[in-house]
Amino acid sequence: MTLSPDPLIDFRSDTVTRPDDVMRQAMAKAEVGDNVLDGDPTTAVLEERAARLLGMPAALWTPSGTMANLIALSLHLQRGDRFLAPRGAHVITDELGSAAWLAGGMADPLEHDAGPGRPTPETLSAAIGGGPTGPYYSLRTTLLCLENTHNSAGGAVTPPDEHARLLAVAKEAGLTVHLDGARLWHAAVALEVPPAALTVGVDSVSACFSKGLGAPVGSVLAGSPEFIERARRMRQMLGGGVRQSGVLAAACLVALDRVDDLAESHENATRLAGGLAEHGWEVNEPETNIVLAAAPDLEGRLKWLEGLGIRVLPTAGRIRFVVHRDLSAADIEETLHRIRTGG
Ligand SMILES: *Cc1c(COP(=O)(O)O)cnc(C)c1O
Repeated sequence: MTLSPDPLIDFRSDTVTRPDDVMRQAMAKAEVGDNVLDGDPTTAVLEERAARLLGMPAALWTPSGTMANLIALSLHLQRGDRFLAPRGAHVITDELGSAAWLAGGMADPLEHDAGPGRPTPETLSAAIGGGPTGPYYSLRTTLLCLENTHNSAGGAVTPPDEHARLLAVAKEAGLTVHLDGARLWHAAVALEVPPAALTVGVDSVSACFSKGLGAPVGSVLAGSPEFIERARRMRQMLGGGVRQSGVLAAACLVALDRVDDLAESHENATRLAGGLAEHGWEVNEPETNIVLAAAPDLEGRLKWLEGLGIRVLPTAGRIRFVVHRDLSAADIEETLHRIRTGG
């Protein structure tokens, strides 16, 4: 048995980051109230700041991105509805089918024919078909659920002009649009636009504070004030009412201060992909912080990396390296060194 070299380098997800001292201090000092009874002041500050950043009138903090998406889909969908989302979208593949069995909508995946993670307007239009109308016995397409960045497509970004074209098609057909923006901050930094430039026209958007920004927990769901009032009730129904949530919202506020730091993770991802390509690996050109590598012998390659003390996860038949704020440029060099010399 070989011992793993120390330290382990963890690329499994950008959720493995740990709150640092600054964040813990902010959590310790947070002003709090009972957010189920009559509100928590720190959570209120976070919700207002997040809404403004996302270009939406109102926002609601949630314990997770999965809950934010489930709340949105539960409010947008009714049983007998169909919704469209790019193939491999988190709401289709990573939320255990809750879109269907809790929110009540059938998912139909859209192919990525405009580029990684992105359908063309033509593909969207064809998939919408009769949209929200049609005979009483057929599914009715009522919702488009976009994802920016698209996780399983390798953190792929949808730029504002493509977003606008997809929105135009969806709105013309009478669809509601939800944007899963778990990593919207990443897309905004990569495209050098404000996050609000990527939410134009949507009815709701979710975004995470725990994906590469260092917060231990927390997401936000944003939309109209009426939608957010209904979302607050749905959150309660799902058991997501958190009392002194300010302790957690304080961490999310620190996370928001760190959005610009994501550029460093993106540079490190590019460095990692370049090094792997030089070593003969077939990799994507990372648009943000995710590097996907092809592996003919996936199981063998995963074991080999584990033996080198490099932790990764498989995704759709490929190896996924997720770069985050707890990995430095030196960690990337060390990773490449281990891979080059690992036999
Ligand atoms: C991680 C992720 C979520 C869910 O976030 P959690 O906070 O882990 O529940 C939703 N959508 C996408 C695209 C994600 O990557």
